[in-house]
Amino acid sequence: MREFLERAVAAVGDDGRLPLGGMVDWEVFPFDRDGLRVRPLVEYADPEPDRRKPPEECKTCVALGRDDLVLHTGERLAVIRPARTSLPFVANIVSRTHEVLDDLDDDGHVELGRLIGRTYGALRALDGVGNVHVNKWENGTGHLSVTLLARPLGVLQLRGSNLPVWADMLPNVPQDEYDARADVVRAALA
Ligand SMILES: [Zn+2]
Repeated sequence: MREFLERAVAAVGDDGRLPLGGMVDWEVFPFDRDGLRVRPLVEYADPEPDRRKPPEECKTCVALGRDDLVLHTGERLAVIRPARTSLPFVANIVSRTHEVLDDLDDDGHVELGRLIGRTYGALRALDGVGNVHVNKWENGTGHLSVTLLARPLGVLQLRGSNLPVWADMLPNVPQDEYDARADVVRAALA
């Protein structure tokens, strides 16, 4: 929608950038206001390029072939985890084949809802987890992924929608600790 972009560009300041929003002042925002600048909004594409990359280039398809990363296999969907994470736990509810959410039929929607609830419960029950956040992305390759991020108990600055930004900067958790939690989640989803 070009009008959307044009209205946004009309709102930029003398430096050609949008002003910082109110989120910068949230106590959970990871960055200080000083020195922070918004990137200029310049890109526009209509029609958009296809979000779907070939399955050979898809890390979700690769992960589905690894027993250590698969936590549950359902009818049309599966639950997997990334090989490493900086959070107590991360789980991805993904389609078993290379498709996007738009491709799921009603049975797929029912399975997705059930798996979100069960996976949420499994992560929430882990020791040291304060809350679990649920997001729909496509992992950059056009493969359905509903990502559940477990926030460490008591670390309240990581609350909410900035959790994946914090996760990008935090060091990975010890691998043996993460693998042990995977066994607990796998058992809970069985
Ligand atoms: Zn894929």
